[in-house]
Amino acid sequence: MRDFDYLEPGSLQEVCQLMAQWGDDARLMAGGTALMLALRQRLASPAQIVSVARVPELRGIHLGHDQVLTIGAFTTHSEVAQSALIQQHAPMLSAMASQVANWQVRNQGTLGGNLCYADPATDPPGCLLALDAEVVLQGTSQKRVLPMADFLVDYYETALQADEVLVAIRLPAPKANTRGSYLRHLKTPADHRPLVNVSVTSTQSGNDIDALCLVVGACTPFPKRLQSAHALLGQVPTPLLIQSVAHAAAHEIDALSDARASADYRRDVVRVLVARALSDHFNLSCI
Ligand SMILES: Cc1cc2nc3c(=O)[nH]c(=O)nc-3n(C[C@H](O)[C@H](O)[C@H](O)COP(=O)(O)OP(=O)(O)OC[C@H]3O[C@@H](n4cnc5c(N)ncnc54)[C@H](O)[C@@H]3O)c2cc1C
Repeated sequence: MRDFDYLEPGSLQEVCQLMAQWGDDARLMAGGTALMLALRQRLASPAQIVSVARVPELRGIHLGHDQVLTIGAFTTHSEVAQSALIQQHAPMLSAMASQVANWQVRNQGTLGGNLCYADPATDPPGCLLALDAEVVLQGTSQKRVLPMADFLVDYYETALQADEVLVAIRLPAPKANTRGSYLRHLKTPADHRPLVNVSVTSTQSGNDIDALCLVVGACTPFPKRLQSAHALLGQVPTPLLIQSVAHAAAHEIDALSDARASADYRRDVVRVLVARALSDHFNLSCI
């Protein structure tokens, strides 16, 4: 590992200035669970590590008067799982966070670090996309608010500029009759990271589905909302309809193929997991 200077600025402005000053020679660090591995494996060798641990703007979970929930980027997965505000506002998000990795990683790794690293084999990005989350980014000269769909750009790639810091994640006010569910599949029980995950949010009036968002993640370069879900709109969900949506979803994704699993295997898991997630979500038996 290359020697580096460790900097711990106390303000957001200072962090942005340091990042602008050092450019490619600096890396931000939050919990360090992903970055330290990258340094040890020499995938990154910055001369300066800039910690965001002492920046107050990146901390805390707040509910605004407009019912928008703001989660500081330095919030750990454990804090997301245990926050009463998140459990109330977006139970799907806390349920997802309680499944991330193991206790050690959940206590140290942050939501912001997870999103900025953009590792595809992770849980939060797809879940936040289905929840219509936005990210707040601060650079030296401007602040930007981006929908999650614009922040997730590609395999290990986000829309973050070199001098930008992810400050917070915002969740919109919950809509009436809307609920969400999250399901992930591990290849073996000893695995920590998901091979496939499925996030579902729906709005119903009576038995009819008015709005449905289906996001498949971990098995693609970055999670996306699937068009296949539209076949359920305006319908009363049935096991047969769900099977046909699951089949279409497996064909719609651009599945990754790597040492963990082939693209065909991942597509097959997507078919099974989408059917299971939608059946659970609509309280139907899975055929
Ligand atoms: C054994 C193990 C198992 C895991 N299993 C899972 C799993 O099951 N599901 C899952 O989702 N994840 C899993 N992970 C990944 C884990 O969630 C991430 O490593 C963690 O969330 C990263 O957060 P961090 O605070 O440690 O980030 P860091 O390691 O500090 O940073 C990661 C990257 O993000 C950048 N960064 C950090 N914060 C900011 C910010 N505020 N603004 C801009 N850039 C920033 C850093 O520069 C760095 O490039 C696992 C990791 C390990 C080591």
